[in-house]
Amino acid sequence: MSLKPILPGSTSATGQQMTLGVMGGGQLGRMFVQAAQAMGYFTAVLDPDPASPAGLISHFHIQTPFDDEQGLAQLMQRCEAITTEFENVPAPALVTLGAHRPVAPSAVCVAVAQDRVLEKARFVKCAPVSGVSPAPHAVVDSVDSLAAVPDDLLPGILKTARLGYDGKGQVRVSTREALAQAWADLGRVTCVIEKLLPLQAECSVIVARGANGQRVSFPVQANTHRDGILALTEAYEGAVPPALAERAVASTLAIADELNYVGVLCVEYFIVKNSAGEPDLVVNEMAPRPHNSGHYTQNACDLSQFEAQVRTLAGLPLPTPRQHSPAIMINLLGDLWFEPNGVRSQQSERPVSPPWDQVLALPGTHLHQYGKLSPRPGRKMGHLNITAPNVEQVRATARQVLALLGLPAL
Ligand code: ATP
Ligand code: MG
Repeated sequence: MSLKPILPGSTSATGQQMTLGVMGGGQLGRMFVQAAQAMGYFTAVLDPDPASPAGLISHFHIQTPFDDEQGLAQLMQRCEAITTEFENVPAPALVTLGAHRPVAPSAVCVAVAQDRVLEKARFVKCAPVSGVSPAPHAVVDSVDSLAAVPDDLLPGILKTARLGYDGKGQVRVSTREALAQAWADLGRVTCVIEKLLPLQAECSVIVARGANGQRVSFPVQANTHRDGILALTEAYEGAVPPALAERAVASTLAIADELNYVGVLCVEYFIVKNSAGEPDLVVNEMAPRPHNSGHYTQNACDLSQFEAQVRTLAGLPLPTPRQHSPAIMINLLGDLWFEPNGVRSQQSERPVSPPWDQVLALPGTHLHQYGKLSPRPGRKMGHLNITAPNVEQVRATARQVLALLGLPAL
């Protein structure tokens, strides 16, 4: 990647406004676009969906499939540099773009994150330096490898190597028969069987790394999942035991270095008890982009994960982010529009907007909605960041918000 910075608000050699591009038009792309525009860039989004959250607000929206040659050519023609907002962007498309424009993260890094088999192999390779290993696991891609799965991986979770997210493409299995059945049900695609670990908690770390190798980390956040989907993130001192938090940050930076990663990277960790009964870390997976668990940075830090993405892409300086407020992020799923205050409405009823007036009356509440026009149960519609001067207050406000929304208490 070129180390010459792309300065916002200037014009390119061809007289175009400096434009940054993103493959994918989901909410992460939308928040990248918002951060880029705030700094004075023009933006271009490639996504076939005419109503994609990022496409709706971008200067340019190229509505073609991700591997469409003409669409990719248009994106390259418009943009000085291109990033991605979801890991299932076809890696060959990023190779095409990368031949002509700076692309961050690179096709190689995205390809690793797209495939649990490659990803786990990288984590194993990094373990001597990162100090953290993945869960015990084995690859299942043939009848022979299925038969060779060691007994001590059961009970386990069978996960498809590709295209899984929010707990999709995963089956929990306790017996060899159930494992064989689950593999058949998943279409006998390449999978990883992972030992089911007794999780004490989960956390993740966001880092940003520039093309010059400079890297910074954001504070560690503790994550609560419900039904395989992130429900809540807590980011304040003590949310994760400090010794583990420090190890998680060091591990994530080591993984970014090993990948020669450019851009924003999120690595997820499990907190488990080791054989000595001490809390320990296990590395779960990574996302080659900003992550839902890093949304708190928008309102609690002096640099958001999306601005960090813009800066790494444009080759701008990357100062160490400072968290100025304890924060809790609550994910807003479409269910809230059908169960206002926790009361399920009739199927036939129109979706009802949650009581934002009451929520926003509480100090330190920051509403982010993604511009999705039709709420559906399980669909990520937005998130709410809560900030406060201290931990007690942020937790107290979060409890009030959760009660107003009819969500489980903190
Ligand atoms: P994401 O939405 O983060 O991409 P995903 O569908 O890719 O999710 P994972 O992160 O692998 O899936 O798993 C989803 C959740 O399932 C984890 O956050 C964790 O709560 C649980 N889980 C996954 N693997 C294990 C394991 N080996 N032991 C115990 N729980 C697990
Ligand atoms: Mg995950």
